[in-house]
Amino acid sequence: MSLKKIFSTKLVLLVLLLLVAVIAVPVSATDTPLFSIPGKTTVVFPNDGVSMFRSVDYGPLDIPEGLLVSSMSDDISSQSSNADEASYTLVTFDDVIPVRSNSISIPITLYGIDYTIFLEKMNFDPLNDGIDSYQGSIPGIDNSVVIITVGDDNIFYGSIQLPDDYIEIYPVQDRDHSLRTTQLLHVIYSQKDVVYNETSDVSFCGVDSTIDGIGLNFHNDDVISSLSNDLGEYDWAYINVLVVTDTEFYSMVPNWKVSAQQYMAQANYYFQRPDIKVVLSVIDYDDSKMSDISNHPSVKTQPWGSVSSVYLNNALSARNVDICLYLGGYDVAQDDYLGYAMTRHAWAQMKARSWGWFSPYDGSAPSRHCIIIHELGHMLRASHDYAYSWDVQDGSFWGYSTKYSVMTEGFRGSNHLCEFSSSNPSYHGDAFHDNAKYIRLAKHNVSRYRNSVL
Ligand SMILES: [Zn+2]
Repeated sequence: MSLKKIFSTKLVLLVLLLLVAVIAVPVSATDTPLFSIPGKTTVVFPNDGVSMFRSVDYGPLDIPEGLLVSSMSDDISSQSSNADEASYTLVTFDDVIPVRSNSISIPITLYGIDYTIFLEKMNFDPLNDGIDSYQGSIPGIDNSVVIITVGDDNIFYGSIQLPDDYIEIYPVQDRDHSLRTTQLLHVIYSQKDVVYNETSDVSFCGVDSTIDGIGLNFHNDDVISSLSNDLGEYDWAYINVLVVTDTEFYSMVPNWKVSAQQYMAQANYYFQRPDIKVVLSVIDYDDSKMSDISNHPSVKTQPWGSVSSVYLNNALSARNVDICLYLGGYDVAQDDYLGYAMTRHAWAQMKARSWGWFSPYDGSAPSRHCIIIHELGHMLRASHDYAYSWDVQDGSFWGYSTKYSVMTEGFRGSNHLCEFSSSNPSYHGDAFHDNAKYIRLAKHNVSRYRNSVL
């Protein structure tokens, strides 16, 4: 038998096997999303083949590329034939929290199991702006964390952290199309279903925070060292944050303030840990200067320079602000960074990194949480050098995966976690990888930047 013949016979067998495999795939219950709020969630996609998509112009949908890849389709409008393979669900929500009490309970269905979750309003948001964030856990699931943010017009954000899973819910329409409906489309997915290109290393951050560099040229300690400091490292520090944006991010999401608040809720969850004890109080979500930022000549090359030029230090102090976080809507690909922090200003890229073969930085909510918390960490003296990594046994090919703490340089996709390294045995790290300690030592000084006129 010729080599060609063997090859072609094998090929035919392979094709037959694949066909059998396709036919044998059971039809999954695609109209049951992995998360829902009974009575308040309507599934739009996947559906039973009667596509609602064709009658409604939803506009471009901000669904992570790695999810579309795992769904084997990049065209959701023609999905009815392979909707059973979709790894995400698109839904609308209806009035999830009608009365925004400080303590609430809502029924949810998670992976087919009903729970009632109890949530408390978070404490970092003094604004009376119709946007509220809540934190809680799922009864009976140890180490589960639920963080949600609700706005007007049925905007809902949810992050559900489980011991070995991470579920995200957020709106996927842009501002222009969202203004035409009160039934915003939201995506629901598990991070397990996102395909990352792990061979592609994405530079994360432009801060050169080598051990020697800390304190020498990064933080303006001269300004603050003269101020009295009668608070200890385990006393709470309240840092006033101004969150700002440009015209691009403003247009990219239905309501950028609700997005920003969910990200700040995530950041507060990690900064309010007992070994850190920082509250990041949001003074305002300010888009009054978004055109100034977008029109600044360095917005696409050095966006951190744009925000520090538009929001000068003395103007921040005049508003009682310590630090300013800029959520950037441009892909600053040429500089290889996704974030940068200076003394009182930081920039974090919200847009997916466009180059490469589905880059690990997909602009999804989890990746945004990561870069935001990383840059806020720098402003409080956390450093790449004290980041930590550890192995977790799992069902993967290698039997384990390596997890990375948030200050790791180089973005690691779903293995890049939001937590800070710590020598506290409740967390991951050791005496030599203890960014929590550096934050504790810096936090009271940062909370006094507002008194500085420089
Ligand atoms: Zn960094």
